[in-house]
Amino acid sequence: MSPRVSKRRPLVAQSEIRSMTLECARVSGVNLAQGVCDLPVPAPVIEGAEQAMRAGANIYTRFDGLPRLRRAIAAKQKHCTGMDLDPDGQIVVSCGATGAFYAACLALLDEGDEVLVFEPYYGYHVVTLASLGIKPVYVTLEPPGWGFTARDLERAVTAKTRALVLNTPSNPAGKVFDREELGIIADFAESHDLFVFTDEIYEHFVFDGKKHIAPATLPGMAGRTITISGVSKVFSVTGWRLGYALCDPQWALAIGHFSDLVYVCAPAPLQIGAARGLEELGPDYYQGVSDDHRIKRDRFCGALRSAGLTPYVPDGAYYTLADVTGLPGKTARERALYLLEKTGVACVPGSAFYSGPVGETLARFCFAKEMNVLEDAMQRLGRIS
Ligand code: PLP
Repeated sequence: MSPRVSKRRPLVAQSEIRSMTLECARVSGVNLAQGVCDLPVPAPVIEGAEQAMRAGANIYTRFDGLPRLRRAIAAKQKHCTGMDLDPDGQIVVSCGATGAFYAACLALLDEGDEVLVFEPYYGYHVVTLASLGIKPVYVTLEPPGWGFTARDLERAVTAKTRALVLNTPSNPAGKVFDREELGIIADFAESHDLFVFTDEIYEHFVFDGKKHIAPATLPGMAGRTITISGVSKVFSVTGWRLGYALCDPQWALAIGHFSDLVYVCAPAPLQIGAARGLEELGPDYYQGVSDDHRIKRDRFCGALRSAGLTPYVPDGAYYTLADVTGLPGKTARERALYLLEKTGVACVPGSAFYSGPVGETLARFCFAKEMNVLEDAMQRLGRIS
């Protein structure tokens, strides 16, 4: 006899990303599977956190974050998206965008609810929902356009649908939802009275003149949208666990209380580091990081083409999906493993992002790496032909 673990356990078994990372370590390869950006952390962010620690900011903060950080988020949000937020009622600082999303799901959704999710999806969204007994219902986007229509949404909705999750710019497709698409979503959400959870963690990484539009700024959307974002990606501090949810005060308090229940508060001195970064870093900084990712995107997609793979060049974020059907193997995983054995470059099989067969044709590569790491990967890709 031994005690049994919860029925939820299989949902969080080994992810494809973790398993490819292990395979990569086995062959001492270059890991482009993990979405970790290893660029330097900006000086004000590091200095702000270090000084805060020395100055004694090491105790719990308010459950919804330090007022200084909430003010800095409101100012950045106003400047970058036009959203007008009350720092004392519409902003909940949590442990990463991941923590903010989890707290929002706990606060606003119930077991048995259905939630529409665009696929290719970000795995944490789907597993978070499933672990709470909420059914993800997929709206499938296919390469190369990743488009959808109002009919696609209508086909997926049922009487149990309570929300829609979108991610713009998206991981893994790099899709940047345009105004027309967001208009379709806004009309749909209004007609079915749905929440819209929008994960905008890659909001600053948008290329080729495309613009990030915050869905909450569309007419009628402010009251039903939970905007999720954070500083993990833009300040290269994924290990700091700092993110936030932005929404109408009536939802914010509930989200804050669940964030309190699970995390108590986000790390205090790191909140001050993030606040310093948001206060002191201007448009030049954000543009610089985005340009850096675009340059790497172009070089890396070029290398994929030279290796005989077809990249679907992303408009935003820092991943590219590529068609890998030219590689030996029947499944995306077999093809990704073949690529790893042959070249030492680790990617994520597309099946990690789709519920159906489309994913078996694809693989995801993260190009947010130091240039010498990316150069190494690009050179290795040459070994395939
Ligand atoms: N949301 C998306 C779409 C992501 O791709 C990631 C990380 O890969 C996260 C959230 C994680 O954000 P955080 O580190 O703030 O939890």
